[in-house]
Amino acid sequence: MAGKFYKRLLAGAVVFLALLLAGCGVEIQVSTPSRGGEAGGNLKVHFIDVGQGDSTLIEQDGHFMLIDAGERDQGEVVVSYLKKQGVKKLDYVIGTHPHSDHIGGMAEVLRAFDIGRVIMPEKEHTIRTYEKLLDEIAAQNLKITLPKVGDTYELGDSSFQIIAPVRDYGDNLNNWSVGIRLTYGETGFVFCGDAEKEAEGDIVSSGLTLKADVLKISHHGSSTSSSSKFMDLVDPDYGVISCGKNNDYGHPHKEIRAMLKERNIKSFRTDELGTIVAASDGKSVTFPGQETGDSAPSEAESQDYVFNTNTKKFHFPDCKSATSMKKENRKTYTGTREDVIKMGYEPCQICNP
Ligand SMILES: [Zn+2]
Ligand SMILES: [Zn+2]
Repeated sequence: MAGKFYKRLLAGAVVFLALLLAGCGVEIQVSTPSRGGEAGGNLKVHFIDVGQGDSTLIEQDGHFMLIDAGERDQGEVVVSYLKKQGVKKLDYVIGTHPHSDHIGGMAEVLRAFDIGRVIMPEKEHTIRTYEKLLDEIAAQNLKITLPKVGDTYELGDSSFQIIAPVRDYGDNLNNWSVGIRLTYGETGFVFCGDAEKEAEGDIVSSGLTLKADVLKISHHGSSTSSSSKFMDLVDPDYGVISCGKNNDYGHPHKEIRAMLKERNIKSFRTDELGTIVAASDGKSVTFPGQETGDSAPSEAESQDYVFNTNTKKFHFPDCKSATSMKKENRKTYTGTREDVIKMGYEPCQICNP
């Protein structure tokens, strides 16, 4: 076997040398992502609306990968969305951690498409959904690849590096979440499942590059996650929150919404917008079709506000404090948030304008 492999290697070298000697100007192509506009030149990240849960499809030049598949009743939703995108094969499937809102629909996905590599953490769970997923993996003769921090994989012209889990987290399933940093050209995306602050601390300590244009806000916008050190290093321009309308957990939590605003991170929520698609041309990231659907208006956008000239607070017009305000203190204003703050007003803590 080894001999055959060696011979083939030698044969390849001879051909290569011959080409060089023939002087036919063979150029060694360094693979860099092609610019936008060229067929297959872009990276697309689809944050699929699966209600309370996660499911993200990544697409580059006909190659696909899926991170999580929502609850079990969302399996069909994910499969039909993927089919609509022309998916036949998933090069990678990542089940970030064995909670049902992440791996519930996964068995159905595995049945519907050709599957390359399945990446899941070495943490088992006794829920039936998880056991059924393991059965499906075994039935299809698929093997589980354990995530090893620092390992990198290619998806077309993009690649991703495993950044979590850094270590054993015992029974905290969220902290076992597989985390990746996906890069395409100069752009980057970070996804860390439901990793909480403890796991984020380890990710930060690992010293890997975390900087990204887009962060999928961990744990559906729960205040158990998004520690300031982690946010400092990822330093995203955009945050995507995957959560269900009026979910039982109050996701995204108020503290996280305030933090995103404070850091000037433009945020998009699946409970408000449905499925969200981000596109990268290798230079920058855009959210096509979402320009007007932004849930957190940027500082530069003009808005209607209500001032309380007495408390020096400003509110959205529909805020309770704005509607019940004493007439003599009330003043309406249309302008940018930045202007309002410059005028010496502070945002209301309730409506968070
Ligand atoms: Zn979750
Ligand atoms: Zn979880």
